Amino acid sequence: MPPAFGLPSDQQVQRRLSQMLGADSAQTGDNATTDRLMLMLTRSCELRCSYCFVALTEADQGVPHAGTLASASPGAPPAGVMSAATARRAVDLLMTSPKPRLSLQFFGGEPTRRWEVLAETLTWARRHPALRGRELAIQLTTNGLGFDTRRLEALVAHGVTVQLSLDGAPQGNRFRRPHLLDAPEADSRWKEAVAALRASGAQWFMNVTVPPAAFGELPNRVADAVALGAPGLQLNYATGMRLSVDQAWLWLRGLAGVLTDHARNPDLHLFNRHAGADPAPLCGDALCDVDGTLLQVGGIFHEKRFPALRAAYTHGHLDTATQFGGHRATLAELWRRTREALSPEEAGVFAQGMWLGAGSDLVARLVAGGAAR
Ligand code: SF4
Repeated sequence: MPPAFGLPSDQQVQRRLSQMLGADSAQTGDNATTDRLMLMLTRSCELRCSYCFVALTEADQGVPHAGTLASASPGAPPAGVMSAATARRAVDLLMTSPKPRLSLQFFGGEPTRRWEVLAETLTWARRHPALRGRELAIQLTTNGLGFDTRRLEALVAHGVTVQLSLDGAPQGNRFRRPHLLDAPEADSRWKEAVAALRASGAQWFMNVTVPPAAFGELPNRVADAVALGAPGLQLNYATGMRLSVDQAWLWLRGLAGVLTDHARNPDLHLFNRHAGADPAPLCGDALCDVDGTLLQVGGIFHEKRFPALRAAYTHGHLDTATQFGGHRATLAELWRRTREALSPEEAGVFAQGMWLGAGSDLVARLVAGGAAR
């Protein structure tokens, strides 16, 4: 199906992708003003979303990983949870960055299932002597099922931005699969989480993941976010999935539509309006795994889909890292490693996701340019 009027052409998207690879990540590259680190606190989660390729496990959930180079298992996802000592050392490493702004993101699995370590690490990071008055943004990626009043108060007190992984009303949530609890309980808990977030004064936004089968539903997800009272919304396409040509254009057309219509919901902060994001799945963010392994996040996002990427995206271990810098590859280098690690067929699927990222970037620029005229 040809693109609708106003959408970029395939050639323009390809050209933009080449530019993005050549320029490196605007968020995490050498020219970025912020250094970011994600902490994988646990591989346990109450859910098993069908688009989630993280190697989740409930094995060894009570067992803090030793987090030493000797105990790490190169190339294979580790079991267990991150120890408090590993989390502190990871924060120490971030604080060695010379950049004026820092960013720390709690991730998983479901990080609130490691609440005591999360809370302790928050305090450690906020009071860290090497912070030296620099800005530190802290984000929690969570499904919200582990929230209670006390925890939300702690998040508000520490100025944490909550990225609530929720795909909308029941139709949107059909790709989320309860695993440790039954469907009615999962439903009532996320509704309680939304109500508690709205009442708490926390900074939060809804983080929606849309598989290709639902690419035609982007306006519905926006309507869901508005109905739920979310102050912000980020729409993400699921990565690691094969796309038809029609599906690729359906995403771009739907994105152009919701960005153009955004004036109808001016109170909703739509993150997709901002161009310049990494062409996911080639996200350049650095992550510390539960065992102290340092890798770029695409190696975790695709563990079950493209297991070879874990080793290809690994840049060492906390035990041997003395400086935050030097533990990432440029986007172009990541793509080279990706092609080397994957079969041509797998690399083709990966490239489809990159194309969608570059196309989304162009759509955001086109819509912003139109609005400015
Ligand atoms: S809530 Fe997040 S970590 Fe858990 S299964 Fe869904 S996407 Fe994966």
